Amino acid sequence: MVMRPVDMQLIGEELAIKWDDGTESFISFEKLRRSCPCAGCKGEREVMGNLYKNPEQPLTAEAFQLLRVETVGGYAVQPVWRDGHATGLYTFDYLRHVAGEA
Ligand SMILES: [Zn+2]
Repeated sequence: MVMRPVDMQLIGEELAIKWDDGTESFISFEKLRRSCPCAGCKGEREVMGNLYKNPEQPLTAEAFQLLRVETVGGYAVQPVWRDGHATGLYTFDYLRHVAGEA
């Protein structure tokens, strides 16, 4: 069963997520941004298995400023960052995974 966030709040430098099982997760903006699963950040694997990734771009301070988080299609959340990046779709499962990493 997939857990869903029932409430999300931006508190200080962290995203606080309340899940429908009553537990709460806190993910720092930096960790959230560095975990961005979009193709531009994580790279795309082509048929032969080679990984294509954009050249490493230094993330600015604005890259770690979270403006808001939108829920997409009832299965994922989409953070909107101050530097304009908003292509990362974090499924609820992935979000739990990121939150659970030490
Ligand atoms: Zn990204």
